[in-house]
Amino acid sequence: MAQGITHQIISVVDELYDTGLITPKGGNVSARIPGTQELWITPTQLYKGGLTEETLIRVNMRGRKLAGRDRPSVELPMHLLVYQTREDVGAVIHTHAPMVTVVGLFDEPIPAITIEALALGLVPIVPFLLSGTKEQSQAIVDALGDGPGVLLRNHGLMTVGKDLRDAASRAHQAEFAARTVVLCRLLGGDPAVVPEKLAEFLKKIVS
Ligand SMILES: [Zn+2]
Repeated sequence: MAQGITHQIISVVDELYDTGLITPKGGNVSARIPGTQELWITPTQLYKGGLTEETLIRVNMRGRKLAGRDRPSVELPMHLLVYQTREDVGAVIHTHAPMVTVVGLFDEPIPAITIEALALGLVPIVPFLLSGTKEQSQAIVDALGDGPGVLLRNHGLMTVGKDLRDAASRAHQAEFAARTVVLCRLLGGDPAVVPEKLAEFLKKIVS
């Protein structure tokens, strides 16, 4: 089972790197090891375009390293606090995706222009805080609540999911929505939005 998880993590990192959501050194991915109180997480500093299963680090829920030759992501405390507070979460993904990062720099609400934008509109923005600090982890978990993700101002995005596929799909959806929002801003004027009553109904379904 653990073997399968490490393979899935590398597949997701490759997918996120190839689609530009993770940068050469920016972004990290972790997943619970089913049936244990442990997880696998990607390493810090290594080039994210060429990770192998051997570079992953196995840690327990207190962050103690159990296996792996490299050092875990500096954002490990954020991952740990999410798993400690959200039993339903099986995977955590942090990206440095370009469009969602742009959207996170502004305080304007995201217009309800598409289904994906409705979901993103509910994603809270966390002010910039230093990675790996208790302050950052707590602020992210507080903002996350029982939601699908948070925007990290001047930094990127964190999504959670029941498994790696779920968390990765949310990262892609957020970037897709953010790209649409940015293009609307470039065209100027007021984009057409989903009627308010339908938007309220859909928000409950897509968030
Ligand atoms: Zn980061």
